[in-house]
Amino acid sequence: MNIAIAGAGISGGYLAKLLEQRGISPDVYDGMDHDTRCRCRSCGWGVPGGIETYLADIGLDLNEYLIESMSPMNFDGLVAKTPLFTIDKPRLLRNFSKGIRLKRQNLGQEEAEDYDIVVDATGISRALLPPCRSDLTLPTLQHRVAVEPHRSERLGAGVYGNRIPGLGYLWIFPVGNHHYHIGIGAIGLDRLDSLLDRFYRDSDGCYSFTTLCSCQGLIRVASPYYSTPFYERRVRKDGTSQVIVGIGESIGTVSPFTGEGIVHSLECARIFADSLPDYERYTTSVLARFSWMKKERETLNYLLSREGKGRPRLRDRWRFFCNARRSGIGLPMLEAFKRIGTLSQWVEGQDQGL
Ligand SMILES: Cc1cc2nc3c(=O)[nH]c(=O)nc-3n(C[C@H](O)[C@H](O)[C@H](O)COP(=O)(O)OP(=O)(O)OC[C@H]3O[C@@H](n4cnc5c(N)ncnc54)[C@H](O)[C@@H]3O)c2cc1C
Repeated sequence: MNIAIAGAGISGGYLAKLLEQRGISPDVYDGMDHDTRCRCRSCGWGVPGGIETYLADIGLDLNEYLIESMSPMNFDGLVAKTPLFTIDKPRLLRNFSKGIRLKRQNLGQEEAEDYDIVVDATGISRALLPPCRSDLTLPTLQHRVAVEPHRSERLGAGVYGNRIPGLGYLWIFPVGNHHYHIGIGAIGLDRLDSLLDRFYRDSDGCYSFTTLCSCQGLIRVASPYYSTPFYERRVRKDGTSQVIVGIGESIGTVSPFTGEGIVHSLECARIFADSLPDYERYTTSVLARFSWMKKERETLNYLLSREGKGRPRLRDRWRFFCNARRSGIGLPMLEAFKRIGTLSQWVEGQDQGL
């Protein structure tokens, strides 16, 4: 059984390590043609403390990657304790690829013919699997910014739905040395750059901002349920069969509300390694493990619909609260219900004529 993994990002790199531990040596392909300064796919680098066990499983120590704690964090004016922090993701990816057979080229359909199993870990590209049954992507724009406070107070970590007209949010993630990832993700808005500029203008009484680099990207917020099929059996030119199977963001293991995909993609890779070669079991396990993502996606569908432009329903508010609780964020329930952040803005933005 020979295996190729297309993509040496979070899910593909981690899977390669897990398979090596099980005595399977995959060929890993990644052209790494990212036009970002960090040479990675654009990402905020924010993760919850739960990442520690995934790293420990492959002999890595989280402390070597920690950059900054994001506790406390501001959620549209509500300040809460969180178990979130930023990590040096480029360094983590470099360490994933140590000791594995990495080919610095993309895997196309032609080369994929050589393998019995091809894992599509190509993230948003989903380069080898057929299209998702109902895809949904969130356009983003992110800057790395040096921030200097005019007075003594540092810029704190935060997520703000109330700065975005429509369905989206702005994030401020500290990444060390007074540098920050400041980004916007929003569905249905073209001018993300002017919204970021507005944030800098609004804040320039307190801070001065120097943009160091900028990247754009899409996040698959479709949920796994709407990103099926997860695998496809094909017959190769020589008549033998082959399986193409997706892991990570290629099959939507990302929170539709927050765009958080790092830990969920690690979990997905782990489920895959534990299920191999039972693809039905893998599919069932991923759908069960991430069933809450289906509900979040359905809330997005509702809010994007004509009907949903009225007001988030009780169930949408509850899903938002559950999302925060799942990430270990201590938002008080009643406050979270009243000020539902990214979701309420859909309503408040319209009330304010934004
Ligand atoms: C602006 C932005 C901010 C984000 N912030 C966060 C955050 O703070 N926290 C969080 O948890 N998540 C965040 N995410 C989401 C997170 O980055 C992804 O969900 C996660 O990286 C998915 O991992 P993956 O391995 O599935 O895909 P990716 O990390 O996208 O990796 C896919 C890899 O496949 C490679 N590839 C593509 N095509 C081919 C091919 N044909 N052959 C071989 N290789 C190929 C690419 O080069 C890439 O290295 C953010 C996303 C964006 C866009």
